[in-house]
Amino acid sequence: MPSEDNESAQCPYCGSDSECEHLLLCADTTFRRASSGALFEAFDEKWGSILRAHEDDAHFDERTAFEGLLEIVDTLANASHEFVIEGGPGMTSAYLAFYVATNRKMRSACKQFSLRNKPVFQVAWADDEIVLELSLSDRNWTKLTRGERVSVRGKGYCHEGEFFWDYWDFIGGTDGELVVRYGSPKDGDYSARGFAGKTFGAVK
Ligand SMILES: [Zn+2]
Repeated sequence: MPSEDNESAQCPYCGSDSECEHLLLCADTTFRRASSGALFEAFDEKWGSILRAHEDDAHFDERTAFEGLLEIVDTLANASHEFVIEGGPGMTSAYLAFYVATNRKMRSACKQFSLRNKPVFQVAWADDEIVLELSLSDRNWTKLTRGERVSVRGKGYCHEGEFFWDYWDFIGGTDGELVVRYGSPKDGDYSARGFAGKTFGAVK
């Protein structure tokens, strides 16, 4: 977490005081909203869904929930920085900016964040001629986050005039492995492997 307050954002890697390639997220902690950064949209969406889910909950602690979401971002960032922007009366905001050191780290941080928030999975094989996507149901997503094995059938696809079913086996939770098998209903053999790798690597 940040060690000192400053009057403006400043990237610890390039010195920029505006949105640079290292900015993972900048959040307004006074008014509790995302303001910029690569995670802006994903964060905003997640925060919106948390608020909607607790709309009728009089005991919902919005502050703690917002801090909890920022803590997730903090675990994905390499550095953070706190600052205050003075506005008119009632308009002064405290900000928290999170940075990552490299492009590679940026990609992985964005994937990790979406992995915590029910991502769309995408795999491809046959030189990308076959590209499949999968969204898990809430129930299966909950099982996956608990580390339970999840096996689901995809939507199926056609390749060279033939129909195939795709089966997705998630083994070992979000940090585990994903195998996508396929086969033709003609012989009912679905053991051919189209994709095998880290679940993490299949986040769209
Ligand atoms: Zn920078």
